[in-house]
Amino acid sequence: MSQTLAIIKPDAAGSGRTGRIIAQLESAGFTVRAVRMLTMTRAQAEAFYDVHRERPFYGSLVAFMTSGPCIPMALEAPDAVRRLREVIGATDPAEADPGTVRALNAESKERNAIHGSDSDENARREIGFFFPECDRLG
Ligand code: UDP
Ligand code: MG
Repeated sequence: MSQTLAIIKPDAAGSGRTGRIIAQLESAGFTVRAVRMLTMTRAQAEAFYDVHRERPFYGSLVAFMTSGPCIPMALEAPDAVRRLREVIGATDPAEADPGTVRALNAESKERNAIHGSDSDENARREIGFFFPECDRLG
């Protein structure tokens, strides 16, 4: 078993899509090991997306991610990082496979419903970012 971090982003959390997204993730074989709801501060969003600091979409992304509540979750499954990326689909929902979380719920390349960690190392860092008090989750 391994773990990864998902975040239901403010577009999806604010439009009544939380329950169906968590249900889809559980149906896909993930166990929720930790979950919370918060509105990120600007400093939190800037730090979380620090890797994108030089990208043209960074300022807009930070504004979006601080625009309302989001729901970070630590998810557990075999091969969790790779499997979550499959289940959420491509960054741009227009390019996401049919049936993926983004194809079903996302509005645009920016407002794309959900985050998924892209490596085991980043999953550990990102789970620690939102759940620093948890040595072992679940
Ligand atoms: N993003 C954007 N425009 C882009 C690329 C990304 O607004 O051209 C946003 C989008 O919300 C994406 C996030 O920035 O989910 C992080 O980008 P990344 O390339 O890491 O995509 P992801 O790993 O989320 O698929
Ligand atoms: Mg990414």
